[in-house]
Parts: sequence; structure tokens; C-alpha cells
Amino acid sequence: MSNTLKLHPAHTDLEAILVTETAIKRRIKRLGTQIAETYGDEEITVVSIINGAILFTADLLRFIPNPVRLDCIRISSYRNETKSIGKPQLLHSLTLDVTNRHVLLIDDILDTGKTLAMVTKTITKLKPASLKTCVLLDKKGRREVPFDAEFVGFQIPDKFVVGYGLDFAERYRNLPCIGVLKPELQNPPEWA
Ligand code: 5GP
Ligand code: MG
Repeated sequence: MSNTLKLHPAHTDLEAILVTETAIKRRIKRLGTQIAETYGDEEITVVSIINGAILFTADLLRFIPNPVRLDCIRISSYRNETKSIGKPQLLHSLTLDVTNRHVLLIDDILDTGKTLAMVTKTITKLKPASLKTCVLLDKKGRREVPFDAEFVGFQIPDKFVVGYGLDFAERYRNLPCIGVLKPELQNPPEWA
């Protein structure tokens, strides 16, 4: 654990750290190599699902040497606090043309699978040359619809996590590590 992490003001809100800043950095470097090997010299159209995947995408792109085009899409939050309550919807769609392009979809976490199932269905209709998915975290045990990502950073247990792009009520995205929020902080009345 680095000093930066120990000194981070929001760190005391975590009951546990699941993935350290160092582990994230190391894994992202390897993911970049794996992605570069998969695509060879091809250009990649990266589609990042914001806000959650912002930090992961920014760091991962630095380790992908291929020519890259970047687009972002926004999905409506269909969660109430820490639980999924409905269907995800596309709020802000693609601005780049993805037809005949190699699309790499990036998200922060694969949980029930609903978000990525919906987004991949939408992108597939646009007839990309290929479509692969990369997620930093995967909670395999939580799947409600079948979905596997081609590139996965870490498998994690069924815990609600924050940090490194992932939020609780829009807080904690700036934490450099991934952690589990203390239970008593998961429902503060002032955030209701
Ligand atoms: P899915 O559609 O696979 O259930 O969920 C995907 C989205 O739900 C993620 O992109 C993320 O925004 C949110 N999500 C799922 N699990 C967690 C979690 O443990 N923590 C946070 N902060 N968001 C989560
Ligand atoms: Mg998300």
C-alpha cells in the first residue's frame, strides 16, 4: 500500500481494500499488452461507458500502442443506492461511426450483465468489424443475464465496491484503490 493511499482523506470510509493502487497499475499494464497482442496492428475504436469507466479507460489507453479512436457513451443509472432496480438505458449515444471498425467496449464493472448485454446488442446492430469487451472488475456470481468479457482485470466477490471511478451517490470515484464502503456509510440520511 502506498503512502498516497494511506493519506487519502476518504480512505477511512472503507472497511476493506479489495484491490490496491499498485495492483491496479500492474494489472492495467498487462491488460494493455494482452489487448495489443489481440488486435495486432489494427486500429481500435474504444467505447468507454462513462462516468464509471473514465479512470480505467484513461489509464488503460496509455498501454495500448495501437492507433485508437475514443468515444464515450452514457447509460442511465438504473440503481437505487447499491442495488439494481430496473433496466439500463442509453442516455448519450455514440458520436463516432463504428460500422466496419474494431470496437473495444470498456466498463468499470460487470455485475448482473444487464448493462453490457444492452450496449453490445445496440453496437452489434451498427455492424462493427468486431466487438470485444474489457472490464476492470467482474462479479461473476451476480450474473442475471449471461455475459463474459474478453478482457477482465480482477474477479471480485459479491460486495458493493467504490473507488477508481466507481461511486456511491457520486462520491469516492477519485480513490486510487478499489474498496468496500463501511456498512454504516452506505445509507447516510443526508444523501437520501
Ligand atoms: P450491471 O448492469 O452489470 O448489473 O452493472 C453494471 C453497472 O452497475 C456498472 O457499470 C456500475 O456502474 C454499477 N455497479 C455494479 N456493481 C457495482 C459496485 O459494486 N459498485 C459500484 N459503485 N457500482 C456498481
Ligand atoms: Mg457504470
